[in-house]
Amino acid sequence: MSDTPASPPLLGEMPGAEFRAAGYAVIERIAEYLEQPQRWRVLPETRPGDVAAALPPGPPEQGEPMTRILADYDRLIPPNTTHWNHPGFFAYFGITGSAPGILAEALTAALNVNAMLWRSGPAATELEQVTLGWLRSLLGLPADLDGHINDTASSSTLVALAAAREAQADLRVREEGLAGRPEVPRLRVYCSEEAHSSVDKGVLTLGLGLSGVRRLPTDSELRLDVAALERAVAEDRAAGIRPIAVVATVGTTSTTSIDPVRPIAELCRREGMWLHVDAAYGGAGAVLPELRHLYDGWELADSIVMNPHKWLFTPIDCSALFVRRPEIVKRAFSLVPEYLTTPQGDAVRNLMDYGVALGRRFRALKLWFVLRYYGSLGLQARIREHVRLARLFAGWVDADPRFERLAPTPLSTVVFRHRPPGASEESADASSMRLLERLNATGEVFLSHTRVKGRYGLRLAIGNIRTTEAHVTRAWELVQALV
Ligand code: PLP
Repeated sequence: MSDTPASPPLLGEMPGAEFRAAGYAVIERIAEYLEQPQRWRVLPETRPGDVAAALPPGPPEQGEPMTRILADYDRLIPPNTTHWNHPGFFAYFGITGSAPGILAEALTAALNVNAMLWRSGPAATELEQVTLGWLRSLLGLPADLDGHINDTASSSTLVALAAAREAQADLRVREEGLAGRPEVPRLRVYCSEEAHSSVDKGVLTLGLGLSGVRRLPTDSELRLDVAALERAVAEDRAAGIRPIAVVATVGTTSTTSIDPVRPIAELCRREGMWLHVDAAYGGAGAVLPELRHLYDGWELADSIVMNPHKWLFTPIDCSALFVRRPEIVKRAFSLVPEYLTTPQGDAVRNLMDYGVALGRRFRALKLWFVLRYYGSLGLQARIREHVRLARLFAGWVDADPRFERLAPTPLSTVVFRHRPPGASEESADASSMRLLERLNATGEVFLSHTRVKGRYGLRLAIGNIRTTEAHVTRAWELVQALV
């Protein structure tokens, strides 16, 4: 790239030669970054306001050359970023901006397709259906589940719950809404106390109010108590409340516990409730035939959300929603003003009909690249390795009397705490909190925390493609050294 800063002209796009030079410089940065993400602290030392204070109060009047923009990127952005692509990233759920996914994102940006209609994005629309069909078979799900992509699991769950509400056809919610209608009963959605807050957010958004969610107790392994669910449904019916849906979680956020989906599905069928399975993170584990027993019964769900952007190496954002009766989703959302009618009419899929957003990014491209580049064997090998590493770490915790696990480790997340023999619950909580702070201060690893039945625990979640046994071993060394 030329070193002489020159302002871009006032009209027209960046010339091709300049784009190529800047493009190669960007690719070089990405390649270096992916080869050495650990040259950065995983958790930066940035204080609130640091980044904003380093930026000018307004945009430049004269356009600036890419050299200057990239220099500021180098100076300000990576050093002040939490590095989710760092192999020591063990917080929340580990994710991966993989190389094939990144390349697809660049092409997606270049095409800049808005796949609201088949006509406005034929390849984007059809590739989405095809890749979700591939994903569905990779996960061992039946072919009668129809898939589409949303930005996040929160959106997918909102769409599923809107469909659950729409499935109560006699209420005519689409036509009449809910407010000011004394003839409409209160509607209830059930989930466990461990379910993700996106369930409440969906219910809130749909106008059912926070009291529209009833959270049920869990057993000793943090799985929804089906007998309690059955009792709650009967109790609510007796009180004139209408049960409309259950959200079962396969891989809860806190501990990756797995609800007993089959008996929940049977209850839903008997009671005419919609079953939505939240497998946002856990779903990826179903690529492993040896783990399929954990997913028993999820194939009976009315809808399932699974995020390829969590544990399936696809850059954020990409959330797959599988629905058994897509016509109900369409009934909940479809509106076709004159300017969006097309000659193909109903003969094609128009993605705008399946959710709140009209405009749709071409997200299927990155999923297609990821599925093709790694192949099912490559995806299975990587997920299997993550599960092995989590079990290895869990074994180290179990073997050390100073530590204990707070929950089973069915997938790739270990929840543990420091509790030396004789320590009280309170001192175990306090020393585990201190341990987490010290670990994260190293800049080598980043873990997050949770509470399990009131007790404070550290979460080590393995999900980045670059995390190897050496990184997990190092995390355990640090835990032992810093306790
Ligand atoms: N469901 C579960 C089980 C999750 O763990 C999460 C996030 O971690 C979500 C839903 C929300 O995911 P998203 O950020 O894609 O909305």
